Amino acid sequence: MIIAVANQKGGVGKTTTAINLATAMVAAGHSVLIIDSDPQGNASTGLGIERKKRKASIYDVLVGHAVAEEAVVSTTIPGLDIIPSTAALSGAEVELVDLDRRSHRLADALANLDRYDHVLIDCPPSLGLLTLNALVAANTVLVPLQAEFFALEGLSQLLGTIERVRSGLNPRLKLLGVVLTMVDRRNRLSEQVSNDVRAVLGQRVFDTSIPRNVRLSEAPSHGLPGLVYDSRCAGSEAYVELAREVLARIGGRAVLETESG
Ligand code: ATP
Ligand code: MG
Repeated sequence: MIIAVANQKGGVGKTTTAINLATAMVAAGHSVLIIDSDPQGNASTGLGIERKKRKASIYDVLVGHAVAEEAVVSTTIPGLDIIPSTAALSGAEVELVDLDRRSHRLADALANLDRYDHVLIDCPPSLGLLTLNALVAANTVLVPLQAEFFALEGLSQLLGTIERVRSGLNPRLKLLGVVLTMVDRRNRLSEQVSNDVRAVLGQRVFDTSIPRNVRLSEAPSHGLPGLVYDSRCAGSEAYVELAREVLARIGGRAVLETESG
């Protein structure tokens, strides 16, 4: 299953979710490849991939300088690999425009890479060609949504984009679900927003929400997933729960359409 972790809003927990969900899936016995499709390279750094270890990157794969397999780097976690990002990726949005099959570059590159149970694509905070390539390559989209006042703003734009990709470039694309992130149960606004989001999106929201948890934000500076840095913290436990839900949805093929019911 290829899962795009996408939201054009910045700082909503895409990378944290990609890293920790992947780690929890590995802990559940699955092999996972993360693709760091963000020029910021936060997933690569957060998994402790030093710049000098990044021989080929997702940039080289997208422009055709390397095949996907050549760009795979293993992490310290057995069963979890990554295709890292480099700063060169910031030019990709512009360079891809002139290439053949510009929206299918990632899908084409992943077509021959079938040894992983799951591939998680960490998208950048935009709806440009990098995110479009992820949506065309993916089977499903996981949307992290930060429980804050403007949470629903922008979501309809994202769901509209998913719908357009589904009706054109990638008919198999489904919405895996929306996960509320950085939820603060002591904060009434955060609770209110969570309730509103659930009221609007219904079943498309995962039962599990991710609490605001300082251990999760400390972990990347140690080059470790929160789940490895502190497996007992509330944030890590939430990602284990989320992985259970995700694997159940994938297993039951209970992925939902993007149209609102
Ligand atoms: P970008 O759009 O820039 O790629 P993002 O959507 O990938 O951002 P993250 O990088 O995962 O978001 O998270 C943004 C910041 O919030 C980071 O500093 C991260 O450590 C922190 N953060 C993410 N999730 C949590 C959480 N549950 N509790 C506390 N801090 C968190
Ligand atoms: Mg990110």
